[in-house]
Amino acid sequence: MKEYVKRYPLLKSLIKNFSFFIKYYADHCPFTKPGQFEFHRETIQKRRELGSVKAALKDMDYSGKIAYHVNNDPLIFPNLIKFVSYASKNLPKAWIQIMTNGRALSVKKSEELIQAGINDLTINIYKFHPHDKQPKTITKIQNEIIPKYYQPNQIKEEEWPNINVIKYKKNNFFIFKLYHRNVNEIISSRGGTAPNKKFKPTKSRGFCEHPFVQFNISADGKVSKCCADFYFSDAMGNVNSQSLIEIWNSNRFNHVRQSLLQGNRKLSRNCNKCDDYGIRNLKFLLEFKNSSNNTT
Ligand code: SF4
Repeated sequence: MKEYVKRYPLLKSLIKNFSFFIKYYADHCPFTKPGQFEFHRETIQKRRELGSVKAALKDMDYSGKIAYHVNNDPLIFPNLIKFVSYASKNLPKAWIQIMTNGRALSVKKSEELIQAGINDLTINIYKFHPHDKQPKTITKIQNEIIPKYYQPNQIKEEEWPNINVIKYKKNNFFIFKLYHRNVNEIISSRGGTAPNKKFKPTKSRGFCEHPFVQFNISADGKVSKCCADFYFSDAMGNVNSQSLIEIWNSNRFNHVRQSLLQGNRKLSRNCNKCDDYGIRNLKFLLEFKNSSNNTT
């Protein structure tokens, strides 16, 4: 724990990719090609147990978010329930999120996930037309499965609780979010990887906090500075050969953070091509600045 707070004690999200290859379901996703919207590529059947990462999270009594998607769909991973159960039992303060496009979500799977201990089910329903109907499975999960486990006043539709994780866990709140999305939507340049949006770094942008709060792990153990580095092309380390703490406190990671604190996005190709404006809230900005001053 002491090692963790030594520098940037702000890790809030640990997100793991369980497959290298999957077709996602929208035009902004680099894995999507027009007209092809099916899971296509190989799912990795056997993943490492991430023993060192689990131990580190346990040691720091981790109370942030754990998710299993980065840029893929977690439901294609056969051992997902096992991983959720482990996290739920061993990291009781963590907030466990399943974010999915719902295409591999069955009623049975949703119930298994709830029983395994997820705190959050977020579904992005991708539609070709706004009037396309919501899939019946999702409606059943919404109307029958979630209410079986949670009272109406326990079901929230907000973003994950962030600083209020403990309060949310104590009150047994469950976040259930449905986002109706358009497969053609253009959202952001995703660090230069979105096929349907390019960004020329002519406009100034704000401060990006992602490398201060996220720890994204690829299927082969690489760690990226943020979820916008779709291909993990600018890896901060690899959990197969380094500890979580070592990577989190590495010179490489800190160098990226310092650059962003100074408003410099030229250090990394992703950052330079990224249109994510960053945070606008002065209070948060001061929190990051103070953290940086106290620890370096
Ligand atoms: S500015 Fe850089 S660190 Fe921030 S989201 Fe974009 S690519 Fe990631």
